[in-house]
Amino acid sequence: HLPTIYVITPTYARLVQKAELMRLSQTFLHVPQLHWVVVEDADQPTALVRNLLAESGLTYTQLHILTPKDRKLQEGDPSWLKPRGAEQRNEGLRWLREMGSASRGQHGAAVENAVVYFADDDNTYSLKLFEEMRYTQGVSVWPVGLVGGMRFESPVVDGGKVIRFHTGWRPNRPFPIDMAGFAVSLHLVLTNPDAVFDGDAQMGFLESSFLQGIITMEELEPKADMCTKILVWHTRTEKPKMKREDALQKQGLGSDPNVEV
Ligand code: UDP
Ligand code: MN
Repeated sequence: HLPTIYVITPTYARLVQKAELMRLSQTFLHVPQLHWVVVEDADQPTALVRNLLAESGLTYTQLHILTPKDRKLQEGDPSWLKPRGAEQRNEGLRWLREMGSASRGQHGAAVENAVVYFADDDNTYSLKLFEEMRYTQGVSVWPVGLVGGMRFESPVVDGGKVIRFHTGWRPNRPFPIDMAGFAVSLHLVLTNPDAVFDGDAQMGFLESSFLQGIITMEELEPKADMCTKILVWHTRTEKPKMKREDALQKQGLGSDPNVEV
């Protein structure tokens, strides 16, 4: 049967959360053998996410871990100041490793024939991307559109191997790859139990902090026609303005808070 794709998605409560998760879940419904690991940045699982997952039709796991306050971006901070979603991705990895060791012995081989992808809740994913990553042996890579102040960033391939990276910023980072630009085999995750995202990593080094312990550039598996096709976009959703809502609320005429948006 097909290798399972474990998709780890950090998510946090905000006005657009349900819309983002709805769009994502309905993309994933088109992908066979996908297991969605949703990790809420919250001290408790929320009803909104629980109900959305229950009604999604997907195979899923709902996890949660609150980002410590000193690591969380504060209102007004520039968005690059601190990495987002690091603790949540690590919680997803912890769950995979726990599941991996629990099932080893019984059907360990089947469990390890799987791939792990870190999918933020606001990006845009082509269905083709998932078939590109499905047979990842170690770490597979591909370009990401609309990222890093560029039309796209990408590994550069020569003779079937990644030889450098096309990026607009600090090309000498160990792995100047966006979170959306790689997938890793579950086997590598399980055989490198200490590989995690460093929530204190310098700006732009979060992906490197995870990848540098487990793979070298030469070993990367280029996908998407030798990294020439864009199958994922680092889209970002505008924060909705609540000017009229706030004005109406002051008159007691705000939208019914019992209606979930
Ligand atoms: N995220 C989170 N907690 C936060 C901020 C973001 O869990 O406090 C999640 C978010 O839902 C997304 C991922 O982390 O899945 C990356 O965040 P974002 O899309 O805001 O980062 P950017 O696209 O600006 O790099
Ligand atoms: Mn984003």
